[in-house]
Amino acid sequence: MFDDLHLDHILLTPGPTPIHPRAQQAMMRGMLGHMDPEVFKLNREIQDDLRVMYGTEPEAFTALLAGTGSLGMESGFANLVEQGDEVLVCANGSFGRRMAEMAARYGARVRLVTAHLGEAIRPEDVAAHLDGVQMVAVVHGETSTGVLNPVPEIAELVRSSGALLTVDAVTTAGMEPFHMERWGVDYAYTGAQKCLSAPPGLAPVAISERAFARYSARRTPTPLWYCDFEGLRDYWVEHTYHHTVPVNLHYAFHAALRAALEEGMEARQQRVGEVGSAILTALTPLGFSHYVKRPQDRLPTVLALRLPEGLDDAAVRRALRQREISVTGGLGPTAGVIWRLGLMGEAARPAPYRALMRALEDILGETGLVRRFDEALERHAAGASPVSV
Ligand SMILES: *Cc1c(COP(=O)(O)O)cnc(C)c1O
Repeated sequence: MFDDLHLDHILLTPGPTPIHPRAQQAMMRGMLGHMDPEVFKLNREIQDDLRVMYGTEPEAFTALLAGTGSLGMESGFANLVEQGDEVLVCANGSFGRRMAEMAARYGARVRLVTAHLGEAIRPEDVAAHLDGVQMVAVVHGETSTGVLNPVPEIAELVRSSGALLTVDAVTTAGMEPFHMERWGVDYAYTGAQKCLSAPPGLAPVAISERAFARYSARRTPTPLWYCDFEGLRDYWVEHTYHHTVPVNLHYAFHAALRAALEEGMEARQQRVGEVGSAILTALTPLGFSHYVKRPQDRLPTVLALRLPEGLDDAAVRRALRQREISVTGGLGPTAGVIWRLGLMGEAARPAPYRALMRALEDILGETGLVRRFDEALERHAAGASPVSV
């Protein structure tokens, strides 16, 4: 049913993801000024849709920052951390470590809570280090290892401590239900090019009223002028000039977010699970296996697979790229050990992964990958219980 997607280069990477056709089309609209009433109307719809996507309280402030996901990360620390604040950062991968580095640059005294590579942060380790902390920061889905951190459990602990909670929602929000208000998250961000399949260059953020109050009580101005919360409000709420927003990216983002909400987060989460499980069914007989041991620690949107003994990672991925298929390997200690298959946005479709299976049959001289993949999807469609792999 998704075979009519016109995929040129097939991106199976953990970001960017293939652009949504409606976002692609929206990019072709003519240029309007950043102060045009029509753009303000579009922005208001984006803000409303972001409240739904993040599950915020009705009055939460949402906006797009003109930069990638990392700017969303940086803006949280810039606005909500002051010199000497104690910030607890959960760092079990490279994006967690990026958070720690940013927090330190904005003057935080950083406490690290870590976990073994490929394992989730343990809430009890967070609880043990919460005393005297002003902010806790955690990556929901750690892209570098394919690990899902237990955000609802961590949020419960943080809320009762009085600290703010910042969550990197780059690999989760927009692809599965996210409950900022119910969980007790104060600042969340993602990147347009991940779960929403919009072009890169925008970071959608949501700020709780509690976080905004903390920001308003700052002793010193936010050191990052470009993303100062008040400056963002000037433009997004008061409609006065702050900086020139990339309106063409706003068009595309609006279309992609609408498409995601129309499909629904449950339906999106379900297709991630179905395609992911079909990939496992197809590749397990070749010796691929889950890198993340505990099933509850697995991030569905970035499938981290341990490679079979003897598979030449670099050579196979080079051969795939010659066939216009991009697959991402491991990082640092997992380089040459794992592949990280992206199941965010439009990547979580049968067509691109069927193309991968076909190409792997060819490159590895194997048979049966496409058949196993399709049969697994058909079993799902027939409503059979999910294949356990
Ligand atoms: C991709 C990613 C980021 C950074 O986003 P950029 O758009 O590359 O700046 C941050 N956190 C996670 C978990 C990511 O996967």
